[in-house]
Amino acid sequence: MTKNWESKVVLIAEDEQINFLFLKAVLKPTKAQIIWTKTGRETVNVCSSEKVDIVLMDIKMPDLNGLEATIEIKKTNPKIPIIAQTAYVMEEDEEASIKAGCDDYISKPIRPDNLLTIMSKFLDI
Ligand SMILES: [Mg+2]
Repeated sequence: MTKNWESKVVLIAEDEQINFLFLKAVLKPTKAQIIWTKTGRETVNVCSSEKVDIVLMDIKMPDLNGLEATIEIKKTNPKIPIIAQTAYVMEEDEEASIKAGCDDYISKPIRPDNLLTIMSKFLDI
């Protein structure tokens, strides 16, 4: 069943445009509102100034990386769910993301059904 997240704001923190466009396409049927940030610092700033319902956090980004950005966001906005996008078969990324305060993680390459299932745990409550 197609999710309806039209009242939700999804922040996609991702420095590579092709990855952002992929995630945007996956989320299009859900009607979620999308914000795109390309650096860790920008992601932290948006989380403190906009209504954000969930963050899809890339790990490797300019200035602050995804883990550093997560630590900053959780200091001031602990309730925003953050899903780390970890590199394929990088178990240490998964451990590090949870340690940094991420609520869950998904490994790249991201499978659309898997992404929607994980997001649903935080948005459909
Ligand atoms: Mg990246």
